[in-house]
Amino acid sequence: MKLKICKFGGTSISNDEKSQFALDIVKEKALENKVILVISAMGRYPDAYATDTLASLGNEYLSEQEMARLLSMGELVSSIRMCGKLRELGLNAYALSFRENGILTDDNYANASVLHLDNTELLKLLEAYDVLVVCGFVAMNAMGEITTLGRGGSDFTAVLIAHMLNCGEVEIYTDVDGIYDLDPKINQHAKRYKELTYHQMLALHCRVLHERCVEYAAKNKIRILLKGTFSKENGTIVSED
Ligand code: ASP
Ligand code: MG
Repeated sequence: MKLKICKFGGTSISNDEKSQFALDIVKEKALENKVILVISAMGRYPDAYATDTLASLGNEYLSEQEMARLLSMGELVSSIRMCGKLRELGLNAYALSFRENGILTDDNYANASVLHLDNTELLKLLEAYDVLVVCGFVAMNAMGEITTLGRGGSDFTAVLIAHMLNCGEVEIYTDVDGIYDLDPKINQHAKRYKELTYHQMLALHCRVLHERCVEYAAKNKIRILLKGTFSKENGTIVSED
């Protein structure tokens, strides 16, 4: 079985028009592969289900566990929505609940550490479905409570899933088509790096990728292909050499 793991950031799926690009990418990959689609919450504040919008609905009277439950809604909504759209395209898709993704963490609800990975459910579901939609960022502790992997943690989810399934590569799609030496939005001379080592990527502190995701990818030798959702460019490869 060939497997592709693709993660889409919130700005890539903030509305139907934009989401169509992600859906087209997944549909094409699904012709020859099983696909795991890891998804972030839709859009940015003040979009209705964006993580910061959900955060603004809470206050200091909520516990960290309640806050984690509140923030997790963004990815839950987003994953179920994408699952429906994939089925509409004729794909045999399934959206996993946070209990099924097999990422077990400690009780640090806002920035949990991974204690154990269990691929049992994922393997079963991969036999039954062609596309699995995984809510990024959201995990579970030993009590079965929702925890979160820290802001930007959907990238980390994608790499954890790759490790669990012995897949040496993840594709991370975002609204920029790779890593640049300067900010391409304000500097027209900015150059895109074709390749970076994990070490170089971490040293850039550019926040395009979640830091723990890069560290974990380095430790487990998982290549990260950073690509633009709306672009045909090759993007940036983050790997060992
Ligand atoms: N939605 C979460 C956040 O905004 C996780 C992610 O997007 O990676 O931090
Ligand atoms: Mg991100």
